[in-house]
Amino acid sequence: MNSKIKLYQSIHFKIALVFTLMLMLTLEIVGAVFVRQLEHQNLTTFKQQVELPTYIDNSLATQLSRNDTKKANRQIRQILAEVNNNNITEIRVVDSKGIIRGTSNANNQDIIGQRATDTAVKNTLATNRSHSKNVYYQSSHDHYYINVVPLLSSNNTNNVVGAVYLRASLEGVYSSINSISLIYAFAALITIVFSLGLSILISREITRPIEEMRKQTLRIARGDFSGRVNVTGNDELGQLAGAINNLSVRVEESQELSDAEQRRLHSVLSHMSDGVLATDRRGNITVINDTALQLLDIDEADEVIGKQILDVLNLRKDYSIRELVERDQEQVLLDDDSTKSGLILSAYFSAIQRESGFVSGFVCVLHDVTSQQKEDKERKQFVSNVSHELRTPLTSVKSYVEALTDGSWKDPEIAPKFLGVIQDETERMIRMINDLLSLSRMDSGTVKLNLEYVNINELFNYILNRFDMILKKEKDPQKKYTIERQITKKDLWVEIDTDKFTQVIDNIMNNAVKYSPDGGVITARLVETHNHVILSISDQGLGIPRKDVSHIFDRFFRVDKARSRKQGGTGLGLAISKEVVNLLGGQIWVDSVEGKGSTFYISLPYMPYDEGDEWDA
Ligand code: ADP
Repeated sequence: MNSKIKLYQSIHFKIALVFTLMLMLTLEIVGAVFVRQLEHQNLTTFKQQVELPTYIDNSLATQLSRNDTKKANRQIRQILAEVNNNNITEIRVVDSKGIIRGTSNANNQDIIGQRATDTAVKNTLATNRSHSKNVYYQSSHDHYYINVVPLLSSNNTNNVVGAVYLRASLEGVYSSINSISLIYAFAALITIVFSLGLSILISREITRPIEEMRKQTLRIARGDFSGRVNVTGNDELGQLAGAINNLSVRVEESQELSDAEQRRLHSVLSHMSDGVLATDRRGNITVINDTALQLLDIDEADEVIGKQILDVLNLRKDYSIRELVERDQEQVLLDDDSTKSGLILSAYFSAIQRESGFVSGFVCVLHDVTSQQKEDKERKQFVSNVSHELRTPLTSVKSYVEALTDGSWKDPEIAPKFLGVIQDETERMIRMINDLLSLSRMDSGTVKLNLEYVNINELFNYILNRFDMILKKEKDPQKKYTIERQITKKDLWVEIDTDKFTQVIDNIMNNAVKYSPDGGVITARLVETHNHVILSISDQGLGIPRKDVSHIFDRFFRVDKARSRKQGGTGLGLAISKEVVNLLGGQIWVDSVEGKGSTFYISLPYMPYDEGDEWDA
């Protein structure tokens, strides 16, 4: 755009050239007409100058009419000698028979008496009319004017008695024409040189504002609006310059407006909580805001600018751009497998359409629906789990009741066993329903905590003592359990709901026993950190497979469903424990190696108790 204009392409050069060419053409035409006119004028004047006076013609005619040739010739010679005209080179007198009777050329008197050979003479004698011609003698490089005039008899009979042949050199005429032409050509040349210089100057004057305007428009195109074109007059160029200055102001204003709009859009986009992507009409990304980058786990916008939105959102296998347009304003779900961030995103696509209906691009709005979707999934899973968990004991109760009603009630041996199973299953269902109820209360936030400051060492020891008692009753010699205590001697007062917390420890201790089929040492620890107390219970039992560790606190999750059920487990114990501990402001987690054992940790917030406080208060 900013390329330099070559000299021969410039208007400057073209104007000068056209001007000069036109001037040359004009001078050429004027010159040609002028020289032609000059020649004509000069020749006419010359012809008049060389014309013989009538009295001489008459005298010659008289002499030719005489019979005495010799005398007449003498007279003719005399008459010719009287003609005093420097322009005339030679005059010959010819009689009606074509015989030369006299010549003004003294050196050429020999031709007298000879027959005139000139065609003009012959023609004149034959036609009675004057004949003239211009002749060029190659040998002497001379131009001559030859004029032959018939001589009529003086007695009014109009008989041709002869003719006067007149030869005059045209050199004088032509040389004066030539010198005038030369002067003209020289003047023309000087005029052309001057006018060339002048036209260059003038055209530069004309093109200077154009050049200035060209530079200014280039600056405008580059976004530099600082310059102004000089408005030098009110002619077309002046008005154009004014219009360009006006245009510059307008473009600057609209540029500022569009910049401000862009900044506003950018700030709106970057502060939006939704992710926004915009594409061109082929679906290549042109804009992506920070939220979209975070939602899609992309470090830099440059990584995706220009890329296909279908690829970036991992949608290529399911949709085409056309299908997305047709789904205008309908939600497309990007599941956690397809997004790099592992989030579940809802995407709304809408086409940017011009009034003509032409689609110039799309806007895609992303929304994080991970927690919503997960909750939804969990809820569905939970309902399905509850139904499944209740159906199993109900089915077995039903089949035992059927067996009893079919007659087994009479069997004194089987009936009590069956009733025992029915009782166990019913109790398990009641336990499960109770567990579900307490979970539901905790979920809805309606659970009431009976908070009190409890000496956690005392409580822990109390619970462990109870388990010592229970485990002592274990009859199977294979299953020998011992509880080892590593409990700090310092009294630690923690604010808890004693009943609920006891349930948690009970559950963990029960599990430690339940999932240590070969017995072993159960180690109970209580330590204090800066502002937490940490309880832990380790067993030497089955442990938990690594893949299941993260699910152990999920509702109804069991590593081995059959074993858990057989032992009366509901799969809700740890889920409830977690909820309780969280309600108390603490945390629960597990550390386990499959086949070696597990350690469950509970941390509770603890304010170190300063005995002095009470007195200060
Ligand atoms: P359950 O009623 O089945 O015991 P829990 O919620 O108490 O339900 O425990 C969930 C699952 O966690 C159990 O089914 C078991 O597979 C596993 N589990 C819990 N405690 C232990 C432990 N100490 N050792 C091995 N596995 C355990």
